[in-house]
Amino acid sequence: MPAISNKIINRLTLYHCLLKYTFKEQRSISSFEIAELLDLDDSLVRKDIALCGVLGRKKGGYPINELQQAIEQKLGFAERKEVFIIGAGNLGTALVNYADFKDYGIDVLALFDNDSAKIGQEAGGKKILALDKLQNLIAKISIKNIILTVPPQAAQEVTDYAVKCGVQFIWNFTPVILKTPKAVTVYNENIVSSFLQMHNFI
Ligand code: ATP
Repeated sequence: MPAISNKIINRLTLYHCLLKYTFKEQRSISSFEIAELLDLDDSLVRKDIALCGVLGRKKGGYPINELQQAIEQKLGFAERKEVFIIGAGNLGTALVNYADFKDYGIDVLALFDNDSAKIGQEAGGKKILALDKLQNLIAKISIKNIILTVPPQAAQEVTDYAVKCGVQFIWNFTPVILKTPKAVTVYNENIVSSFLQMHNFI
């Protein structure tokens, strides 16, 4: 199956949110309704939905349940995605407590930190472990994904260590642009950037 672009993933995720929350009382939805709310071209919406293998009915539009499930399948919501969080501060703790992660198959197994006051405690029902336990754990259970929520000054050093331990995917919540080997994928979640984009309109 060819990989779909990040833009399509982004739009499909938004359609899914519409189906799950905004239109949940409806039985069907048209590409025009979706397009209008998201300020998109309706032909683009139909093209995206066709990728999920759902056909619209001429008059009735798309059946909500079927479309929702098709998007979930296309984006692999049901596949379990095990992750570790490195940095059990305010942000790491907020993320482990984010209940919606489960709906997307994201399963935080443990958090890591270097603060002895936090090690051995729990956050969101998950153990906070010493960072130097990462290597052993990765070797044992082969987790390749981490969410990085350490302060900026620790980001590169922790990344280097995580990569050495075998981490391959980093969801980076720090503002640091990380240097990693080509085989490692970093997705930067710059939370201030979204606000600045919005602020630009004000
Ligand atoms: P808190 O005040 O509870 O530490 P915070 O979110 O303000 O929360 P930050 O300074 O942003 O704290 O750090 C986030 C977390 O990253 C903290 O729990 C901190 O102990 C941890 N941390 C900092 N440096 C490292 C490191 N080198 N390795 C692992 N964890 C680290």
